[in-house]
Amino acid sequence: TYLKTGLSKETMDKTLKHPCYNKNAHDNARIHLPVAPICNIKCKFCNRKFDCQNESRPGVTSNLLTPEKALNTFEYYNSKVENLTVMGIAGPGDALANFDKTKKTIQLIRENHPHVAICLSTNGLLLPEYANELNDLGVTHLTVTINAVDPTIGEKVYDYIDYKGTRLEGIEASKKLLENQLKGLEILRSLDVMCKVNIVAIKGVNDFHVKDVVGKVKSLGVTLTNIMSLIPVKGTAFENHESMSKKELTKLRRDCDMLVTQMFHCRQCRADAVGKLSEDISQAN
Ligand code: SF4
Ligand code: SF4
Repeated sequence: TYLKTGLSKETMDKTLKHPCYNKNAHDNARIHLPVAPICNIKCKFCNRKFDCQNESRPGVTSNLLTPEKALNTFEYYNSKVENLTVMGIAGPGDALANFDKTKKTIQLIRENHPHVAICLSTNGLLLPEYANELNDLGVTHLTVTINAVDPTIGEKVYDYIDYKGTRLEGIEASKKLLENQLKGLEILRSLDVMCKVNIVAIKGVNDFHVKDVVGKVKSLGVTLTNIMSLIPVKGTAFENHESMSKKELTKLRRDCDMLVTQMFHCRQCRADAVGKLSEDISQAN
């Protein structure tokens, strides 16, 4: 099973109604509320004019919402969309780099709609700092994107990180980011939070290393991973980089599925996506 052991019944039930975590929950809907504009790292494949690519489709810019507007938006779609069982924050920057906005949004949704699963995605830099508080706030689902577990490979994926007022670059940046991502997963292991690790596979850069990432996070209690193929974006170092073919991605997922359950149905949604996964709609539509 993809379910982590030790989850409460409530979190397990919410997981069964989360269409990303449970492929059989295809009739359940999720909404991404774009409340988090800032990012605290720089991935080489990201053009910060667009939404975070750790969890979303490249080349799309979502309209920002305040936490109060986010609640209104949730309520509007809750009355229109059937089975809205998940509220996620997936950018447009990093959910934890905008902690006040993220926290306020979670509180508003929790107070008014306690049956809804609260789902975040993050690059993990601030995870050790916030993991316990996220659990206390009622976050049930958390995605951490980890593209390398070897800093010399991480260095090829990340330009820099901004951490506690200091900018770190190169190997120092990828070391610190990795340290915090792994520390964060270690803390989450014993909490009532269902975790998923996303991996952006980049041909010739980290694709051969993805299995190592999966193995490492498995050792930290992660039971579900989602390998996504890099989609090159203009104005980035990977602008002209060749993407993995569908066949290559499926093979990589199958190989890794021997270690940890893989997500095969990720749609690389927008930071303002809403509805069932099969309906590709956003709040702008
Ligand atoms: Fe871009 Fe997301 Fe990476 Fe930040 S974490 S640089 S928003 S892809
Ligand atoms: Fe789910 Fe993938 Fe869409 Fe995230 S990007 S909401 S994991 S389908």
